[in-house]
Amino acid sequence: MTNKSSSELVIRRLYQVTQDHSKGFEYQLIELLKMGLERFDLCIGILSKIDQDQYVVKYCVTPDEVPLNPEDCFDLDSTYCSITCNAKGPVGIEHMGENDIFAVHPAYKAFGLESYIGIPIRLNGELYGTLNFSSPTPYPRMFRDVDIDALQLMASWVEVELIRREQEAQLQALNKELHHLANYDSLTNIPNRRGMHQTLQKDLNRLSRTQGKGTIALIDIDRFKLLNDTLGHQKGDDVLVEVAQKIAQSLRDYDLVARFGGEEFLIWLPDTNQEQCAIVCQRIMHDIGTIAIAANPITVSIGACHFSFDNYKADDITQLIGDIISEADTVLYDAKAQGRNRLNSVTKVLSAN
Ligand code: GH3
Ligand code: MG
Ligand code: MG
Repeated sequence: MTNKSSSELVIRRLYQVTQDHSKGFEYQLIELLKMGLERFDLCIGILSKIDQDQYVVKYCVTPDEVPLNPEDCFDLDSTYCSITCNAKGPVGIEHMGENDIFAVHPAYKAFGLESYIGIPIRLNGELYGTLNFSSPTPYPRMFRDVDIDALQLMASWVEVELIRREQEAQLQALNKELHHLANYDSLTNIPNRRGMHQTLQKDLNRLSRTQGKGTIALIDIDRFKLLNDTLGHQKGDDVLVEVAQKIAQSLRDYDLVARFGGEEFLIWLPDTNQEQCAIVCQRIMHDIGTIAIAANPITVSIGACHFSFDNYKADDITQLIGDIISEADTVLYDAKAQGRNRLNSVTKVLSAN
């Protein structure tokens, strides 16, 4: 085969492999390694990552008798890739044993690999690792420019794809962080009103279809202004964080606690009736009483609205949520007026409209 047609073949196969996005990066990379092994007529193909002085196998294709696996780790100095990294470009060695310098290399002594072709992989100028192909038998011909070209093409694709994957991972992490910032309260790390509404919308929509029930309660810290005034705002913040934690610890994992306002929290207890809610609230009040920041135990007042869907088709869930919260707020106000540190509740039956 002429050099030209052999490079065209490499380009065409490389194009096929790299277009196959749907099968995923791992599949593409293994195909690329197989393609390289065929191209160079060698039997061990590796994409490695170099971590300080460690050589870590990330992906490999090997014959059955060579037991090599992803995450296998070697001292970099004992691998031929230390030569590749130091050479700063593609390296092709046809017969290690005949080469005075390489024959004493620990990699040759340890693994006895006779032929090797490898290239450094660089991401934004930084060494990532190497793409390399090797074999225990000496290479039957000399590596040619066309082989080096093929290796360079493969390495370029790996580099671009690794950068793209890294950027994608960064973007995903950033999106996750933005989502958290938008939906969570930065002081207490529990959902804010926005996060709360997302859960309530979803859950109440479901409950209205299944004729379910639940309880929404508002928990307001008693005389919090006094606490701020006597101990300072910082201690006030510490109390808010601990109160949020105590409430969260008292709930089941499908319940919700959100920061509703300054020193006011909302809890949402799906499938919970008045008696069950009272048990949860007693536990919350008890646990909040154990917070040891102020001289006196911290108390809260709670207003709860129990509701059940009885043949009721809600047209406007947002409006319904607002109505339920408003009823909880009214009984909370009563609890404050009656002397604080208590739970008041109201029941709302949503019947056919
Ligand atoms: P009540 O028993 O009637 O609920 O009295 P209260 O003092 O708790 O209620 P009030 O609404 O008068 O005061 C709430 C206080 O909460 C006022 C406000 O400065 C404080 N506050 C709101 N948000 C924060 C916050 O993020 N950190 C701190 N430290 N204080 C806050
Ligand atoms: Mg208060
Ligand atoms: Mg308040």
